[in-house]
Amino acid sequence: MKAVAYARFSSDNQREESITAQLRAIHDYAEKNGVIIVREYVDEARSATTDDRPEFLRMIEEVTSGCLQVDYVYVHKLDRFARNRYDSAIYRRKLASKGIKLIAVTQPLDDSPESVILEAMLEAMAEYYSKNLGREVMKGMRETAFQCRHTGGKPPLGYDIEPGSNKYIINEREAEAVRIIFSMYLQGCSYKEIADYLNSHGYRTKLGSQFVKTSLYEILRNEKYTGVFVFNRAASKTGGKRNNHKSKDDEEIIRIPGGLPAIIDPSTFREVQKMMDRRKHAPGAAKAKEVYLLTGLVWCGACGGPMIGNRRRAGRNKDIYAAYECNNRKRLKACHAKSINKEYLEQYVLNELIRVIFSDEGIPILVKKLNEANKQRLERNSKELDYIRQQLSEVDKKISNIVNAIADGLYSPTMKETLAKLEEEKTRFQVAIDEIQRANVVELTEDMIKAYLEKDKQVILSGDLQACKAIISTYVDKVIVYEDHIDVILKIVDFTGGGGGSRTPVRRYIHSSFYQDSFRFQSRRRVSRKPDTLGPARLRFPSGPRAGALPVAC
Ligand SMILES: [Zn+2]
Repeated sequence: MKAVAYARFSSDNQREESITAQLRAIHDYAEKNGVIIVREYVDEARSATTDDRPEFLRMIEEVTSGCLQVDYVYVHKLDRFARNRYDSAIYRRKLASKGIKLIAVTQPLDDSPESVILEAMLEAMAEYYSKNLGREVMKGMRETAFQCRHTGGKPPLGYDIEPGSNKYIINEREAEAVRIIFSMYLQGCSYKEIADYLNSHGYRTKLGSQFVKTSLYEILRNEKYTGVFVFNRAASKTGGKRNNHKSKDDEEIIRIPGGLPAIIDPSTFREVQKMMDRRKHAPGAAKAKEVYLLTGLVWCGACGGPMIGNRRRAGRNKDIYAAYECNNRKRLKACHAKSINKEYLEQYVLNELIRVIFSDEGIPILVKKLNEANKQRLERNSKELDYIRQQLSEVDKKISNIVNAIADGLYSPTMKETLAKLEEEKTRFQVAIDEIQRANVVELTEDMIKAYLEKDKQVILSGDLQACKAIISTYVDKVIVYEDHIDVILKIVDFTGGGGGSRTPVRRYIHSSFYQDSFRFQSRRRVSRKPDTLGPARLRFPSGPRAGALPVAC
């Protein structure tokens, strides 16, 4: 068996193991498992949160293109592999499609379906901790922020900083400009009209320059004007530039209502936000690229080939049809399976997830299973810990024997060498203990597992395909589309309490007219009539069947 090793180090993260320590742990693990490391890839990032990973991308390219033949990618910890769940899901799927397994050597988990979910959960935790870490760097600033004091830089238009206390006070002349901006916007004025008015009436920005569109945008979006002290790290420097337009995670933001004097009343502010959102989503905004939720998961029941998401214009009205098509039919013309409507198939799979896993009966079962898997993980860790501690105490004994011998005047040149070797060994064991203990810090309680599953359930219910895509392969093994029915094979063992088998096929017949071949499907444009529904009200089948038309096959 062969593997490549990937290590990553961010220089601003002091708690992180060095590249050498990461690689050492990887090599130890490889040796223990009889795996040969054929190549090492190392990225040294300037920051824990920027995504600058040339070697990572090279590794993915080399192992997936087959230019390097390996069975595993070894990393020290899962958070070394990718910085967020979405990324991770994408790259992991890429590796999996070539039969390559990702292994975090300090968090080894087995292949069981529970482990797959557990692994995703640990990864989410790592993501959370990575954010926390960045936060710690900002701790001093945050403490200042909690006292609603100015944290540096220029205050927003309308405010001055009181010398000494560093608190915000209103600058009346500037505050007038702010009020004008909000009220003109509410009256429907364009940015240009507002800027022209302000500039011609002698108002200036905080920097003393003329108003332009972007300065107005930032003012209209600044919640501070309602008296809410807002502090967030995303507003801090990123690559030397403030990125106020980027959306920020809620957990990154500190909001303290009444933290500074208000210039705009909250209802005016809310009204303006609504108007701005409406303008943003106005027609003509860039069309989002189609997201195929089930990429890599759908297989043709007729020939066993993969089914690929595809979009084309066809039919009398040149409507756009999105569908999953058998690759063998499309490229080789070697299969006659019909394609299937994209939305129908995706909603069907999501619906099955809700029905089978994320149901009132399913979640408690899953929580229990994950809990068991987690207990096993902790047990493994603690056994490993015992073993290493024992090794450590043996090394300690050897060291003190030599030291005593030297103290007794028994000295030989080889002793010095042996002592150095023992000391090195000791350090290695200490590092290993430290790593295992740290892995144990992420202890999952039943409540955490429940909350995690509940969060995933909400993602699935939300219908946000991009978000669903990041988690779907955690739960769905594959989807096989046959002529007259669909098999959804989930990764979770046996929910019904029945015997054996590590997978739960969910099989339902569907009416063959739901296959899109002669384009009898409704186009997206024509979905105007009230769609029929199946299951929870939020899951819609745009061209779907009535619930009663779906006889359950097994
Ligand atoms: Zn086929």
